[in-house]
Amino acid sequence: MLAYRHAFHAGNHADVLKHTVLTLVLRYMNQKAKPYRLVDTHAGAGGYSLEGRYALKKGEFEQGIGRLWDRDDLPEAVADYVARVREFNPQGTPEQYPGSPAFAQMLLRAQDQLRLFELHPTDYRILESYLGKVKGAEVKNADGFEGLKGQLPPSTRRGVVLIDPSYEGHGDYARVIATLREALARFAEGVYVVWYPQVQKVEAAELPRRLQALAPKGWLHARLTVQEPDSQGFGLAGSGVFILNPPYTLHDELLAVMPYLVDVLGQFDGANYLLEHRAD
Ligand code: SAM
Repeated sequence: MLAYRHAFHAGNHADVLKHTVLTLVLRYMNQKAKPYRLVDTHAGAGGYSLEGRYALKKGEFEQGIGRLWDRDDLPEAVADYVARVREFNPQGTPEQYPGSPAFAQMLLRAQDQLRLFELHPTDYRILESYLGKVKGAEVKNADGFEGLKGQLPPSTRRGVVLIDPSYEGHGDYARVIATLREALARFAEGVYVVWYPQVQKVEAAELPRRLQALAPKGWLHARLTVQEPDSQGFGLAGSGVFILNPPYTLHDELLAVMPYLVDVLGQFDGANYLLEHRAD
């Protein structure tokens, strides 16, 4: 059953981290003219209203993009991310939040390919009407874990894969590992970006170490903790992004980003970040 709807969470602190990293990775890929393929295995609807009942119910964006929108001291990489959110809101006020497919649409070049998987029928329909007819893009109402292997390797042997599941049950953690193992066997040099929630589950705590063990040629792990779990241990304390085969520039770029995000997005005194990597 697909109960998760990203519309409730669009623009929150986790989206800020994930989409800042995605923007940096795509900027790096764009430095070479050779085309690449971006596969988004869990694409969501592509864009979300920040004024609709879903977003307003929890107001999560207010603790995310809402805290960044008017800042005039943004580090370069965060400024680029916020500029993309502004580009998505040409009216000048934050009314819509771009999902990962929209960031891709803004950043990919004419020669690049976008492959989007979304299982939820409603979000798929919204995504298909937004990007289904865009040249170079394909939108599939299919399981992204399953579908990824059919997209690898890209013919140019340049590619980025975003794996951003909803982790509704416990199964997604194991599926991330199994999917990556198969994907790496087909396309070892791809750049793989995995998002995960910082929640009190053994599977979530273990995921970064399990991903390290898979990484053939280097990895980077960035985690941003912004709030305390509630008294029962529930709630999203923060989130992490784990990149296999990261751009060599990413670590230094995030050194400027992570302390800033702690300062601006942190909701308690213990807010912190972790940035670790292994370069080969
Ligand atoms: N990547 C999006 C972004 O950054 O804007 C957000 C994606 S949201 C965290 C996860 C999405 O995955 C949901 O829209 C959910 O319906 C979808 N989903 C869940 N299981 C899936 C699967 N096996 N294959 C494809 N999509 C799935």
